[in-house]
Amino acid sequence: MKILDGLWVVAGPGETCEEDAAAYLLCSGNRAALIDAGTGLAHQRLCENITDALPAGAHLSFLFLTHCHYDHAAGAPLLSRDFGVPVVAHEKDAGFLESGDSAVTAASWYGAVMPPVTVHHRIEGRQDIFSVGSLRIQALWSPGHTPGSVVYVTSLSGKKILFGQDVHGPLVAAFRSDPDAYRESLEALLKLSADILCEGHMGVIEGKMEVARFIRRYLAAR
Ligand SMILES: [Zn+2]
Ligand SMILES: [Zn+2]
Repeated sequence: MKILDGLWVVAGPGETCEEDAAAYLLCSGNRAALIDAGTGLAHQRLCENITDALPAGAHLSFLFLTHCHYDHAAGAPLLSRDFGVPVVAHEKDAGFLESGDSAVTAASWYGAVMPPVTVHHRIEGRQDIFSVGSLRIQALWSPGHTPGSVVYVTSLSGKKILFGQDVHGPLVAAFRSDPDAYRESLEALLKLSADILCEGHMGVIEGKMEVARFIRRYLAAR
């Protein structure tokens, strides 16, 4: 489903399967990137959604993972194989991805086993910058929900888009969630003043006021 020119939601309930968190596809010229990968349970459907959305000749330059959780990341090995796309994740979640840790990645919650996910590019420290066509994509370390949670920020059609994914949490000891870090990360997300928040399970929140209200709701609950 198209959100804006050059931005689609390609995975999640209604797009692929109930178990998948949302995955977003960005495209600029003949370059594209995916934000998150779903579970892999509806891999063929996801591949079709990506291929249908992209203009002919466009190819994926990056698969950006927001964090190590099963519903966001378990589909990454299949996508990386079929599209020849490198997987990007923060160094603090990369170990759980590469070892296929079913507890920390929440796969056990789903009664599933986490496949090992090779991380080709580790984001180190607080931020990193990527180019996809004419888009500049900023990765910001945003720990709390998991140790290596990352948000991605870009500008599209004059709007600031925040790929926040699991902004809503939850915070769970088995995920190694950190409530203090989570609160600080939400404060930092508020300061971004994004026009559109692409969430992992709560849909697409549009409008600066609505995005701020959404983030403040989870900040107030802490
Ligand atoms: Zn999560
Ligand atoms: Zn999630």
